[in-house]
Amino acid sequence: MAKKFLCKDVGMDCPFEAQAETEEELMKQIAEHGKTAHGITEITPDLMEKVKAAIKDE
Ligand SMILES: [Zn+2]
Repeated sequence: MAKKFLCKDVGMDCPFEAQAETEEELMKQIAEHGKTAHGITEITPDLMEKVKAAIKDE
């Protein structure tokens, strides 16, 4: 089962989608995308919670 994250699900006006086998791998992709696309250098606990809530199993 894959895990999927859509950037727009955390309120971003952004078409980015990430997909990975594990949440750990997915978080790496999300962190990298957040840095390059949105200038987010630090994932706060608040943001982390939002991201985790938006992750779906496929
Ligand atoms: Zn994005």
